[in-house]
Amino acid sequence: MTKKYHIHTFGCQMNVHDSEKIAGILSESDHGTTDSIEEADVIVLNTCSIRQKAEQKFYSELGRLRTVKKNNPNLKIAVAGCIAQQQGDAIFKKFPYVDFIFGPDNIDSLQTWIKGNTMQTSLKYNPGYHTKTLPMSREGRLSAWVSIMYGCDNFCAYCVVPYTRGRERSRPGRDIYDEVLSLTEQGFKEITLLGQNVNSYGKNLPEDVDFPDLLRMLHKIEGLRRIRFVTSHPRDLSEKLVSTMKDLPKICGHIHLPVQSGSDKILNLMNRGYSYKEYKNKIDMLIKSIPDIAITTDIITGFPGETEEDFQCTIKALAEIEYDGIFAFKYSKRPDTKALHLPDHVDENVKSQRLSEILKMQEVITHKINKLLEGKILEVLVEGVSETDDNKLTGRTRTNKIVNFYGDKIDTGNFVMIKILEAKLHSLYGEKV
Ligand code: SAM
Ligand code: SF4
Repeated sequence: MTKKYHIHTFGCQMNVHDSEKIAGILSESDHGTTDSIEEADVIVLNTCSIRQKAEQKFYSELGRLRTVKKNNPNLKIAVAGCIAQQQGDAIFKKFPYVDFIFGPDNIDSLQTWIKGNTMQTSLKYNPGYHTKTLPMSREGRLSAWVSIMYGCDNFCAYCVVPYTRGRERSRPGRDIYDEVLSLTEQGFKEITLLGQNVNSYGKNLPEDVDFPDLLRMLHKIEGLRRIRFVTSHPRDLSEKLVSTMKDLPKICGHIHLPVQSGSDKILNLMNRGYSYKEYKNKIDMLIKSIPDIAITTDIITGFPGETEEDFQCTIKALAEIEYDGIFAFKYSKRPDTKALHLPDHVDENVKSQRLSEILKMQEVITHKINKLLEGKILEVLVEGVSETDDNKLTGRTRTNKIVNFYGDKIDTGNFVMIKILEAKLHSLYGEKV
């Protein structure tokens, strides 16, 4: 390999997986990877625009590359992902040292660009993208991400995704099956199916297949031990999905079901398509069918119009549901979205106070729920040596909890049974039985 590439990924799992495709294309065209931006011949910044903070991080990184390019004029800089899609040519105006801009639907265009094509942008809606198979350099050897659909049609009032990743398109079931089969043949044991709203999988496919059907199909693959999926939209979570999860042992007992708010008024303004009561009924259905299931969620504080009373509804919801974990964010104004034009935007300090109140409250709940696992024996897929302690191994339970324990490196890649001795806030500690 004569040339080197460096990828900086911002944002969600979807971007992490897109970066595996970007890395795959670069490796295929004879580039090796490097951690050093000074050594790189090609730098790709794979951007996220979900919140302002992620955007700021990207701009400061891109600013830093000005000097790097000055010192190495042969360096090629590409900007990918959601900011690339939204800002397009405007990026060149402020950062003329950028060479190529491509959107999440145009990762395949990197194949042409890297061969010396002088095109500067590739941002068009790419209707065939969901049927393309791209080379991939996967990050792990045990767990793999698999895209099952692209884009989103939901237009939640706060969210940029439908504008940056386009309309919802499901990948043909056969293509997904072939990818998962090939992964298991390479030794992968666990897959996570990716989509913005996996529960609406299949809606635009010619074949009559929905998400539970896809799960059943993949479940038959020998060698595959665990199936996970993100993200589920509460409106589209069906009884059929819950009974499929209950029936199929390879489907892990964890669901990420973003509620966003406990107030019906706010849910309606957000265009989420469910009331809190409807959401809670789905949670009850899940717990009744799969009692050990772990449930996590996303919350936004300070959405326009959120009064103290609305916020208290969210607090009440958290206390009632007792999630295993939450991701909580302050509402962030995003270009093109409907929420920008709503009245009664909430003061930044109030948003921050509400966020910290929620996070504090959830810490107590998460710790309490984890404590209930003390003394239990759980199956753990061993990922390797713990990042925080060289003497321990680390892995995840079927419910996606991190477990650290003393063990032999030889167990990496194996499923072991671990007795939980101590529950901490972010991880469990145990011993092999
Ligand atoms: N498609 C998924 C869903 O509907 O749940 C998640 C998509 S988004 C990448 C992940 C989370 O970011 C959302 O669930 C939401 O809580 C948060 N988010 C999205 N837009 C936001 C905004 N403008 N401000 C704050 N948080 C936002
Ligand atoms: Fe964004 Fe809503 Fe689509 Fe999730 S479902 S990606 S929050 S528009």
